[in-house]
Amino acid sequence: MRVKCVICDTIKKIDNDCPKAKKLRNRLIHTYMCPECDQRIEENTIKRHKTGNFKLYRKKEVQDQYLS
Ligand SMILES: [Zn+2]
Repeated sequence: MRVKCVICDTIKKIDNDCPKAKKLRNRLIHTYMCPECDQRIEENTIKRHKTGNFKLYRKKEVQDQYLS
């Protein structure tokens, strides 16, 4: 399936049978981030964590999982 990164709008092709594709189809995750952005977010999250201004980035995603 084709997915679009919500951050940089890159279109990626991911395997239909990979866990991420299954999650997207099941609406467990509503957004796709390419590995590059994923990595960048991860680094920023760690940086924020260290500076004490940490906001839990994945909070929305977690809540969605519980709601569905
Ligand atoms: Zn991206």
